[in-house]
Amino acid sequence: MNTDDILNAIIAVDQALAAHEAEIESLDRAIGDGDHYINISRGSQVAVAMRGELAALSPDAALQKLAMKLLSTIGGASGPLVASFFMGMAKSIKEHNDSLADVAAAFAAGVDAIRARGKADLGEKTMLDVLIPVSRRFAELTAAGAEPGLIFKELKQVAEQGMLRTRDLVATKGRAAFLGDRAIGHIDAGAKSSQVMISAVCDLVLQP
Ligand code: ADP
Ligand code: MG
Repeated sequence: MNTDDILNAIIAVDQALAAHEAEIESLDRAIGDGDHYINISRGSQVAVAMRGELAALSPDAALQKLAMKLLSTIGGASGPLVASFFMGMAKSIKEHNDSLADVAAAFAAGVDAIRARGKADLGEKTMLDVLIPVSRRFAELTAAGAEPGLIFKELKQVAEQGMLRTRDLVATKGRAAFLGDRAIGHIDAGAKSSQVMISAVCDLVLQP
């Protein structure tokens, strides 16, 4: 992974989020407080604006700088979680950045940082219901030496399945936890935004 890959991913993520604004907003309105799109898109817009200063940095330094900026700009519960993701990724990429398996390991390190920060796990109706299955499958597929085309196509499907599964879950973390059974039937907003972002980054590889 080089810094250009990161810069391209920033643009793709920002555009994909904007294309799903209404959907993400209404999901958080149904079982949260309606600000998730505002929070996450504020982050993606700040990242777009930082592209010039990130371009000169190594990938790990760019991810670390991005993390610090996102921590101070994204509000809500998701701000510190998103920042933790990029910090975890930066640390891992700094140590190993030679192969796609190293990118998978960095993604997993980012997801682990979110788990630690949010004290949440699979099945709690959060973004982790998308991120954990994707990180596991990414590691498995790269370890098996699968072709990138196959890997990113499958990861899009895994993200979609994880997002859809949150519909039937009761939330045990975040604002939706206050609703108990009333959250059943609604997809989690953070799971949806994560799926949208993952899908956009996968498409960069699949449709360059
Ligand atoms: P807030 O809940 O403060 O309004 P956002 O609306 O930006 O913040 O983000 C809400 C999303 O954050 C939820 O949809 C969920 O996916 C995610 N989330 C909330 N709490 C946690 C947690 N402890 N661990 C992981 N993700 C969480
Ligand atoms: Mg919210």
